Amino acid sequence: MPISEYKICIFGSGGVGKSCLTMQFVQGIFMPKYDPTIEDVYKKTVEIDEKQYSLEILDTAGTEEFSAMRDLYVKNGQGFVLVYSITSRATFNDLQGYYDRIMRVKDTEINGQPPLILVGNKSDLEDERVVGREVGQALARKWKCTFLETSAKDHASVDQVFFDLVRQINRLPNISSN
Ligand code: GDP
Ligand code: MG
Repeated sequence: MPISEYKICIFGSGGVGKSCLTMQFVQGIFMPKYDPTIEDVYKKTVEIDEKQYSLEILDTAGTEEFSAMRDLYVKNGQGFVLVYSITSRATFNDLQGYYDRIMRVKDTEINGQPPLILVGNKSDLEDERVVGREVGQALARKWKCTFLETSAKDHASVDQVFFDLVRQINRLPNISSN
């Protein structure tokens, strides 16, 4: 049976847990001290709804500036994860910039919005929460995308992020359902 290959990009401010979410999904481990400067692509083959998928996940790092290389990834990317930390309002506010950039690069006026999921990470830190769940939900409604709160530390709802994106990509009208 042919394997569908999907490219997924993860964006968000430094420290929100992009690498930890990636590592938890790809390797099933929590790496509390992952090098914040590493930007790399990780691969994982998964079975979703009885079909095999090869996922290529770009874990971005560094400045908010988009490099030419990163724009190329966005151009080729089929699904996008936008991550903030529920313990930092600034990381939530930063997401609009990433969103706008993705929409520009993807030329959404012509192509429509790509599969996208908004993620509030660090849900295990309820005591330090400053971004309410309903605040995240409201932004997801505005963006017409799905929303999940996750804990990379506790492996809570991490896999669902990627599963949801795959299902969204499958629902795109121009993708053949091989
Ligand atoms: P990135 O810069 O977005 O890639 O963030 P990292 O994945 O490197 O994580 C930044 C910091 O947040 C690290 O100290 C992690 O241990 C911590 N962290 C990441 N995810 C979680 C989480 O779900 N819960 C908690 N408590 N800490 C997390
Ligand atoms: Mg990182």
